[in-house]
Amino acid sequence: MPLATLVDGALTLLPSAPAARQLRHAYDAAQQALGLHTWEPAPILSWPQWLDHLWSEAVVSGIETRLLLNEAQEHTLWLDVITAKQTETTLNSADALANLAQQAWSLANAYNAADRLRAFANTHDARTFATWAESFTQTCDRNAYLSRATLEATLQHHIEARTLEAPPNLTLIGFTNLTPAQSALLETLRNTNTLITEQTLGTTTNPGAPDLSHLEIGVSTHHHLHTAPTEPEELRTLSTYLRTFLQQHPTSTIAVLLTDPDDAPTLEATFREILAPELQPITADLSSTPWEFVSGTPLTAQPLISVALDLAHWAQSPLDLNKVSALLLSPYLGTSTERDASARFDANVLRKARLLRPELDLRTLLRLAQTSPDTPTWLHPLHHFLTTTGNLETPRTFADWSELLRSLIATTNWPNNTEARPLTSLEFQATQAWDSVLDQLATLDFRGRRVPYSTFLHTLDRQINSAAFTPPSNNAPIQILTPSAAQGLTFDALILTRATDTNYPAAERTNPLLGFGLQATLDMPGTSQPRATERAHQAFTQLLASAPNILFTYTPQTTDGEQRLSPLIASLNLPELPQPLSEPTTAIAEDILEDTTPLPALTSPHVQGGARVLQLQAACGFQAFAEIRLQASHLDTKDLGFDALESGNLLHRTMDKFWERIESHQALSQLSAEARTAILTNAIDATIDHKLVLESQWDKAYIDLQKDRLLNLLQHWIDLELKREPFRVVARETKQLIHIGPLELTVRLDRLDAVKDGFFLVDYKTGYASNPANWDSERPDDPQLPLYSLLHESGELHGLAFAKIRPGRDMKWLGYQDEPGLIPGKNVVDLETRLSDWHTTLTILAENFASGDASVNPKDYPATCTHCAQRLLCRLNPQALLTASDTEDSDTESEAQANG
Ligand code: SF4
Repeated sequence: MPLATLVDGALTLLPSAPAARQLRHAYDAAQQALGLHTWEPAPILSWPQWLDHLWSEAVVSGIETRLLLNEAQEHTLWLDVITAKQTETTLNSADALANLAQQAWSLANAYNAADRLRAFANTHDARTFATWAESFTQTCDRNAYLSRATLEATLQHHIEARTLEAPPNLTLIGFTNLTPAQSALLETLRNTNTLITEQTLGTTTNPGAPDLSHLEIGVSTHHHLHTAPTEPEELRTLSTYLRTFLQQHPTSTIAVLLTDPDDAPTLEATFREILAPELQPITADLSSTPWEFVSGTPLTAQPLISVALDLAHWAQSPLDLNKVSALLLSPYLGTSTERDASARFDANVLRKARLLRPELDLRTLLRLAQTSPDTPTWLHPLHHFLTTTGNLETPRTFADWSELLRSLIATTNWPNNTEARPLTSLEFQATQAWDSVLDQLATLDFRGRRVPYSTFLHTLDRQINSAAFTPPSNNAPIQILTPSAAQGLTFDALILTRATDTNYPAAERTNPLLGFGLQATLDMPGTSQPRATERAHQAFTQLLASAPNILFTYTPQTTDGEQRLSPLIASLNLPELPQPLSEPTTAIAEDILEDTTPLPALTSPHVQGGARVLQLQAACGFQAFAEIRLQASHLDTKDLGFDALESGNLLHRTMDKFWERIESHQALSQLSAEARTAILTNAIDATIDHKLVLESQWDKAYIDLQKDRLLNLLQHWIDLELKREPFRVVARETKQLIHIGPLELTVRLDRLDAVKDGFFLVDYKTGYASNPANWDSERPDDPQLPLYSLLHESGELHGLAFAKIRPGRDMKWLGYQDEPGLIPGKNVVDLETRLSDWHTTLTILAENFASGDASVNPKDYPATCTHCAQRLLCRLNPQALLTASDTEDSDTESEAQANG
């Protein structure tokens, strides 16, 4: 523990900002423990903070007037150099090349090798980079810029020249692999009489931590391995371990090392489930969770930031449909009082649009909104702002664009920080991070250039996607960080996740833009296997020393294939974590109330819903009650183009127009193939073009495709119509009122054909599942045509069928007839008996519905419930649906197991 050193006032340096913060926190806690109320802050800095501090001194004292480039400025400079020099096309974008060049430049400077790039450039890539680096250096010299990569060398020069004062004492803690540039700077300090001491890590920096040498989790040692059956299980077990550990030692600090940042959302979701169930609701304030991501999370993972970024993109071009929907539902736009209206707009206007495009621009959305009273209030000011802003391709400075974007987003009332809905601390920090990104973009005017909005947006994307969001630390007991960020930190317990051979040790790689000879000569990472192994052992040993209790977790078989435990960890021969660590159980007291109150009687026998009322009643009484009487419906999905309902409607309307023109089997038989195609084409054109406004090339291409598809489908269908006995179409898309039991249902008949001395009922179907087998049972799945059949007097109806208009072998007539030939197939039945049975069945269903039979009684669990939207309301208890035979089966199994 180096706290004693701090009392001496020596400047203390640690490798990273989290490590420095942890030590400062420990120091402050120690002062409090001594009963002090005020004290001098400890001089503890991370290495980069110290360099910044020295640089500020150099600037303030006037010995430096150069502009120290920030990351975004340096990237822009590399981008300029690369674009100016690039004569060949490469597979990499200029942005990616600039990133690569920045990394190579940093590495070269860290190894004091920037002046040897040309001499060692023996490959095309290395020569190209040497040229870029020369150009970059000249630009910096010409314009008095300083690359951050050269900061150590620059400060070393000032200390050697005594223009910058060296500290008298310096303590280094936790540095295992100093770069040559760091070593050179320290050597210069030594030569100027700075007393430098180096300390190794203790095992805990928590002065109030308990003695952990007898942890109950660890039985024989305090290092364990957990081999999980699945990746989610791995996260659940480590969460349970954390919970148990913290229950036993509430003041301890535990680190979770994440090797894959993509695991962060899943890990947080698992923590919310197991460690802090009270934080599970999506509206929960996550500002002070018992865990924190020390290495930060992507800034774009903050919902408030992704909303702002989407608005920035929407200003320029149409936005992905899902993102438009997310904007409509966002609590950060508009006012808090219009949340419900925005949700209704999304459900009733956007999702119910007849033709859903994959992307929507603001103008199209506002056109959709014309008839809706629920249009979100922020859409109009946003649209007004954009239409009065002028051409977005007219170049402006980065600072101008940053301000314009702030104003644009402000029109939507983002981030909606009001008394009714104040921002949480986390959200507030996110708005500050957003402002800081825009401020950083404004610094790109250092090159004195004006750019169009598209370039500004591209740069904003890059900045925001590379920005990590690290809100101020709450000193949470669980610290989540990457293995490299853990360097120099100490904990009471440590958990290494995904402890496989690919992560521990992490592979070292050479840099493709630096000559291999140069890298090998200077012993850069990735050039020597023995050195890599040595470094890996060193880093791993330091990790082992950073906590007295360590849990390694891994999953041998993942979706990426077979995983092997890290050899470093396997060599420790660790015992498996004792199982099971129990997860929290929340007992909910149950009150059982018998509900004998009958439903109120129907106010009218006329019920909306047609045949669906009886279909739902047959499937499940509660489903019918919820959907018909409570009007509880599911949210439409956002299927691109026409959804299934609209596709079906188009087909119905086309067939309606076709038979309006042709009228009979005889007229159809006399048509030439060309005439038939022309009539069908006209019918399709009239159906589609009449209703839709085509807004884009995508719309036109999609509609043309749909027309071709429909024409092709109906050409084949008409061939099947020709195979029937003569008929005449006497009714199309006709509304009828049917009296069934105590109900009156309004239905729409697709088509009625006159055949011989009676009628034949036709219903168009485009769905896969249409089948007459679904007409016959006491709880019919599809009572629609049986219900329609009741419109006819006895002996009048000779048949009824689905016209199943689907491509391939699915295309067929499916139904019943009382004599052969009316439709193809051997489906002749005693129709009068069927009609009588259907009448009885449907009357009972109508009576059940009218009498308020809302019992939770799915016809065929789980099939009936699978696509039911009422699952949240009905509180189905699946256990209660186990049949006696199910129970017997399980009893028999248990007995068999018991008998061995
Ligand atoms: S989920 Fe099942 S039990 Fe519940 S209402 Fe729907 S069909 Fe009935």
